[in-house]
Amino acid sequence: MDQTIIPRPPVVVAVVARHGQHCVVTTAPVKRGQVVLAIDGPTVSTPTRYTVQVGEGLHVDAEARTDGGFPIWRFLNHACEPNTRLIGRALTAVRDLPVGQEVSFDYDSTEWDMAAPFDCGCGSPKCRGIVRGFRHLSDEQRAQLIAIAPHLQTELARAGRELAGARRRSS
Ligand SMILES: [Zn+2]
Repeated sequence: MDQTIIPRPPVVVAVVARHGQHCVVTTAPVKRGQVVLAIDGPTVSTPTRYTVQVGEGLHVDAEARTDGGFPIWRFLNHACEPNTRLIGRALTAVRDLPVGQEVSFDYDSTEWDMAAPFDCGCGSPKCRGIVRGFRHLSDEQRAQLIAIAPHLQTELARAGRELAGARRRSS
């Protein structure tokens, strides 16, 4: 049984095919701070190509629906300078978006270690080139993110402790 985390926002997006790939675009003007959609669905403990991480070892799965359909958010593309960020499970606009704008978010702001890393072609001057998850970013890259999910801070602290423990054991 799915748990309702936030009320479903009004539908302001649709999935379209553009430049040979599916993407999510706005179908109504969206204001900065407005919730664009909710990342809802069953959760799994292991990331896949089609999950979004919402907690430590907690990933919402876009593939696991039994009704044959996909949630719109499955088609969200990554951008290194995105126009939305995830707050809890609410994908929230970080600037005003006109109708027809592709909606993007930064996978590195939610994913610790991605199951399917890829080369980014977002075209931003700040493009990080390869997107693999927060774990793989430099401190400088982390500082440039517009959002960092709380679970990534927890994962980072744990990874730091594990590294320190490994260093103690090897010395
Ligand atoms: Zn990029």
